[in-house]
Amino acid sequence: MSHVVGVDLGGTKTAAALVGADGQVGTVLTVPTPARSGPDAILDSVARLVETVLAQAAGAGPAPQLAAVGIGTAGVVDASRGTIVSATDVLPGWAGTDVAGGVRARLAASAGLTGAALPVVVENDVDAHAAGEAWLGAAAGARIALMVAVGTGVGGAVVLDGTPLRGAHHLAGEMGHMPVPGADGLICGCGRPGHLEALGSGPALHRHYLRLGGDDAAADTRAVVARAAGGDLLARRAVAESAACVGRAIAAICTVLDPDVVVVGGGLAQAGPLWWDPMLQALRDDVIDPLAGLPVLPAALGSQAAIVGAAGAAHRHLGRTLTLPCPPKDTP
Ligand SMILES: [Zn+2]
Repeated sequence: MSHVVGVDLGGTKTAAALVGADGQVGTVLTVPTPARSGPDAILDSVARLVETVLAQAAGAGPAPQLAAVGIGTAGVVDASRGTIVSATDVLPGWAGTDVAGGVRARLAASAGLTGAALPVVVENDVDAHAAGEAWLGAAAGARIALMVAVGTGVGGAVVLDGTPLRGAHHLAGEMGHMPVPGADGLICGCGRPGHLEALGSGPALHRHYLRLGGDDAAADTRAVVARAAGGDLLARRAVAESAACVGRAIAAICTVLDPDVVVVGGGLAQAGPLWWDPMLQALRDDVIDPLAGLPVLPAALGSQAAIVGAAGAAHRHLGRTLTLPCPPKDTP
């Protein structure tokens, strides 16, 4: 079978690997994203990385035939066109970029690749991450999965039967901008007061600690979390209040969506029980009884999730059915 390469395109690095429809993931190759050099340089870098993945897979043999490329990228994505609707300054100038067309043209120009008809499927990175978890990760087998990513922002995605919900304006699941009690009056990155991201994101947690009167020698979120782990009560309070805000937002979404499972990933989700427990407690406190047993799980695939999810979307585009890898056979 010809191959699919999944790509995770972020503000600082781009990672890619071959991913089979059977869930086998090849060696992940990573390069820095030339974010400051503009969209053309980024597209050049993605195409080169795809070629390198294929060349490495070939070894001394013939290059494997490329059937499709799946890309998860930062920014709001029009997945039907493979274009960027809007983006933050993580990738300057990225809004308006025809990612699918640009990567297809570059790969067609190089020898041995499929050419102008090569399918290139583009997803928002949180959507790709969520689809990866719903295929091979913590939400494997779930029909309705809510994915929440808590890091420099708060992202979310809803996966229905393996496919991310797009919405009418390419924004479905973008939970960072939902109004949440606790964030009242705090100004969000979008300019509006009271949104989840104004208290729930990593940078917002740091700001919250300083607002509570914390020591400004704590330079960033990591430092606040470290102080909390060391027993600093004010840092603990800042972490807990930020986490609880995320939990309340998840509760609100679950009340509408009734998902099979919630998967929580991102840097803060990995901060340990100091963050996780108040997040979960706030969630449990706010949902009605039939949702009391709702599984809330940490993300399982780590940095591979978006590669896997983007590749899965490309396989589906080709009409392939996604399966799980066979368990390794016992050797006698
Ligand atoms: Zn906002």
